[in-house]
Amino acid sequence: MSSLIWYLHEFARLEWIKNFLFAKTKPVPTPPRFRDFPVVVEGCTECKACVTICPVPEAITLSHVDEKPTPVINVGRCIRCHQCINVCKFGALVRKEIAVSAN
Ligand code: SF4
Ligand code: SF4
Repeated sequence: MSSLIWYLHEFARLEWIKNFLFAKTKPVPTPPRFRDFPVVVEGCTECKACVTICPVPEAITLSHVDEKPTPVINVGRCIRCHQCINVCKFGALVRKEIAVSAN
């Protein structure tokens, strides 16, 4: 029992409890080299080069939105290698920072 009292005396300090309960870490900034998921923009011609080159099965598929061919990124499978962006000659897939800066 005495060891329990000693333990409480040593460790149950109000300042430590406050620090434990209200500890906050600074948000981690996104490093410039971070690759996000590809962003789909206008211009898909349904050439299927992105689907062919993608190393992960069904990470990218082609669908139709308003009768326009549109690539769809499966974020549960995509490994963000950006091979689809590099192979698309029509600019229908872009890096996220480029899509953000264009808006
Ligand atoms: S996104 Fe680009 S590479 Fe993929 S099917 Fe459309 S035009 Fe072709
Ligand atoms: S970034 Fe890589 S894994 Fe993701 S859809 Fe494009 S080619 Fe596939």
